[in-house]
Amino acid sequence: MPILKRIAEMHADISAWRRDIHAHPELGFEEHRTADVVAAKLAEFGIEVHRGIGRTGVVGVLRAGSSERSVGLRADMDALPIRETNTFAHRSTLQGKMHACGHDGHTAMLLGAARYLAEAKAFDGIVNFIFQPAEEGIGGAQAMIADGLFRRFPCDAIFGMHNRPGMPLGKFAVRSGPMMAGGAFFDIDIEGRGSHGARPEAGIDPVLVASHITVALQSIVSRNVRPVDTAVLSVTQIHSGDAYNVIPQTARLSGTVRAFSTEVMELVGRNMARVAEGVAAGFGARAKTDYRSIFAPLVNDPQEADFAASICTEIAGAESVRRDPALIMASEDFSFMLNEVRGCYINLGNGDGEGACEVHNPSYDFNDAALPYGASFFARLVEKRLGR
Ligand SMILES: [Zn+2]
Ligand SMILES: [Zn+2]
Repeated sequence: MPILKRIAEMHADISAWRRDIHAHPELGFEEHRTADVVAAKLAEFGIEVHRGIGRTGVVGVLRAGSSERSVGLRADMDALPIRETNTFAHRSTLQGKMHACGHDGHTAMLLGAARYLAEAKAFDGIVNFIFQPAEEGIGGAQAMIADGLFRRFPCDAIFGMHNRPGMPLGKFAVRSGPMMAGGAFFDIDIEGRGSHGARPEAGIDPVLVASHITVALQSIVSRNVRPVDTAVLSVTQIHSGDAYNVIPQTARLSGTVRAFSTEVMELVGRNMARVAEGVAAGFGARAKTDYRSIFAPLVNDPQEADFAASICTEIAGAESVRRDPALIMASEDFSFMLNEVRGCYINLGNGDGEGACEVHNPSYDFNDAALPYGASFFARLVEKRLGR
């Protein structure tokens, strides 16, 4: 079965919703208008609406029949602090804010599925539509979980999807097990002793210490992480000093770490602190490491991945469903929800022509032609999972 007929009929509506959200981007935890739009649509479809879960999060609950079986479907709503360079009619109306990751499309697709499911009610059980705020690294998923998301709206399994530029339209990618890296941010504060730039013997130069630490940190991935595991450690900021003739008192290194298991994430953190403190001590300085996990590794349940793939196959045909896509080094906070409830996260092609512009780029736009595929995926998933 290809795209659901009723969803194909809704394509113009879903595109209009998507473009409206695109034109009104809101950053993480500021999705007030977007949450209003989502809540109003859900109510219009006859779906029970719960607001303020994880601050600006919205949950819609749709019941059909009498079964207590349940499914959670999740979309993210936040935009990015990027100045859009597109000139089309639905471009951002807000300076410096932009839907450059396609969360406008994710939200619109889930609304499309919600409308279809509320009309057809061809299932027996409970669907929880989860509209999450603040996916872009500021803790929207954790905020919803901390607000009792899965206690108040129990889900037997949860599913989500992200568009993927460069992957042809109408194609899906579904991976079992680890799919996306976990991510940590770190700051290493180095305390030396300031002195005159011409009298280094009177001080302890934190710039030199920071430089040695930066180089030494590169041994962690190459010498401490098992070669069969994958990790990346990037020092992305070095801050110190204000003058040509002053050896500063302090320096700060900051950056990010990515890996596909919690064990490797923790191993890198432990070694980082040891290397930073040890190298600093060798120069008579002190270093303090703050290593913060921001994203958990995203791990799909193999059985739920098979189930999700079967839905994709139904919609797009087996030849359009990739089961062994490469691991993705970027992170995604749906991982925290998957740590609570088993489920699967999939990728949906955004197109290799017009839809190929990478996410987080000022020229990016979600491809409206992908909307019926994503909405059909969510809708069919519910009908099959909660079949009568
Ligand atoms: Zn993003
Ligand atoms: Zn995204």
